[in-house]
Amino acid sequence: MWRLQVCDWRPHTGTRASPRTTGWLSTSPRASTGSLVAVKYSEQIVFVQHVDICLKAGDTMDDAEMHRRIVGYGVRVLGVSFRTEAPDSPVLRSLDNDGFFARKLRDTARLVLHVHVRRSQGGIWAPDEHGNIDAFLSGVGARVHETCMIAHELGHAVLEIERRRTGTADEFGDHLEGIGKRLGEEKPITVAEANAFYGEEKAAWEHGARLLDERGFTRWFRFGQVCEKSLATYERAIQSCCVGWRAPPLNDFLDPLVARDPPSVA
Ligand SMILES: [Zn+2]
Repeated sequence: MWRLQVCDWRPHTGTRASPRTTGWLSTSPRASTGSLVAVKYSEQIVFVQHVDICLKAGDTMDDAEMHRRIVGYGVRVLGVSFRTEAPDSPVLRSLDNDGFFARKLRDTARLVLHVHVRRSQGGIWAPDEHGNIDAFLSGVGARVHETCMIAHELGHAVLEIERRRTGTADEFGDHLEGIGKRLGEEKPITVAEANAFYGEEKAAWEHGARLLDERGFTRWFRFGQVCEKSLATYERAIQSCCVGWRAPPLNDFLDPLVARDPPSVA
């Protein structure tokens, strides 16, 4: 028997509440996919971040469920707030285009973890004033596309949370912001700056893929398309400011993922 312990983990502050036992499993949690695969910290005791996600082999889920899971993970585990932005919103100023991760507020510079996503209707928050995410989940158009974009923006949040823990977030954030500003003004950047800027984007996609994989995502062909298109936008913008710079190939990252999503049999 495996004792199942649940414990709220707040990565942005590095604190965890005392684990509480919620039940027993007859099989090893390692047999499950999803975030239930966790750190075993003493014999037959596992630590799990949360237990609402437990997929067994062969389970399927629809796209709406996957969308709910990635948003729910962002809110509950990473402490991220989401907001929809209408197409004319000035907030959507990043090259990500359909999404934007904000590490601080524009007017007050207060540190936040906000993910903004493009929708037809702006101003819908998750969590809302009652702590719910349902209103945010309901208004989505291209659900798989948004799921991939949200995972990518959460990848930015994961990188930011890691840097806040090590005390380097402000320095690195300012560095990237400076490079982004010069890209926007089409001023030259160095190869080192090009690599730093593109590397952050690629790393955010890699974290995003991991977060999706841990929650049972299967639409990897679509993920590959969204990721490639987004990174190509960065590649073009960087190349016009850094003569001769080439983006590293994505094959090692994307090929194994896309190979897991073969065309469905009719
Ligand atoms: Zn990005």
